[in-house]
Amino acid sequence: MTVPGEIRFPDGAVVPNLDVAWIHGSEAAKYNTDPDIQVHACDEHTYILRQNMAVHYEAPFMFLLFGASRALLLDTGATANPQFFPLRRTVDSIIDGWLAGHPHPDGYGLLVLHTHAHTDHTAADGQFADRPNTVVIGAERDTAWPYFGFADDPGAVAGIDLGGRLLDCLATPGHHEAAVTYYDPHSGILFTGDTIYPGRLYVFDWPAFVRSIDRLAVWCAQRPVTYLLGCHIEMTTTPGVDYPAGWSHQPDETPLELTTGHLEQIQETLKAHDLQPGRYVLPQMIITPVSQRAAR
Ligand SMILES: [Zn+2]
Ligand SMILES: [Zn+2]
Repeated sequence: MTVPGEIRFPDGAVVPNLDVAWIHGSEAAKYNTDPDIQVHACDEHTYILRQNMAVHYEAPFMFLLFGASRALLLDTGATANPQFFPLRRTVDSIIDGWLAGHPHPDGYGLLVLHTHAHTDHTAADGQFADRPNTVVIGAERDTAWPYFGFADDPGAVAGIDLGGRLLDCLATPGHHEAAVTYYDPHSGILFTGDTIYPGRLYVFDWPAFVRSIDRLAVWCAQRPVTYLLGCHIEMTTTPGVDYPAGWSHQPDETPLELTTGHLEQIQETLKAHDLQPGRYVLPQMIITPVSQRAAR
């Protein structure tokens, strides 16, 4: 048992365990026997949650990170109704389990932040509104960016301290004007939201996306990064082939985790096309410009 405040996160990254078979929907919702939310522990202090594709086709991933003084929930999924999507209950249960091994008799906080403000990442915010000892920061630019200090300086690196676990936060607009990327030195994971994931990278602000990719490439070159974890899977295991948008059965989907090599692929592809907008098909990502703000 660890005494509060004595949790030590080692210097350098501990490679997270991503040996997991994600639930990937059902041929029809009536055949669905999977849990509404799948929970996978990467390590004792790092959890990945996936919303069941049969509950919502976006099947977003969410992340729960524990520090010595509080936990961080990154994103709240695509469905508001706790009857269909019991995120609060699931998160409370994981926190209760963690607290059993790491008691905090004086209370333990929960911070809810987001990768960006699209509704498939914020829908269950309301489930946490009345939760004790909980802070929910709105995902839109006018609420999130002042919180991080990005409203005054979009180039700043914001620090979020969970207690012995200090996350670095970077403004990375392009997919969404309020997109934030999080770096966790404990796991070496870069949480990239919908900016980079194995799927269709919808870009509504092309110049901003180019700048964000360059910034992340520089960031990753300067520190240990184990994986890039985004919030969806839309690619099949066949290179360059994605599932149709809205599909809710993906039995042959590619793994969630990407690496800095994929980030370099994006950067090289953009450079090869003189940074001009276009639909560019890579083995595990399809860069997809959109003329108006992406709705996903
Ligand atoms: Zn999304
Ligand atoms: Zn999005």
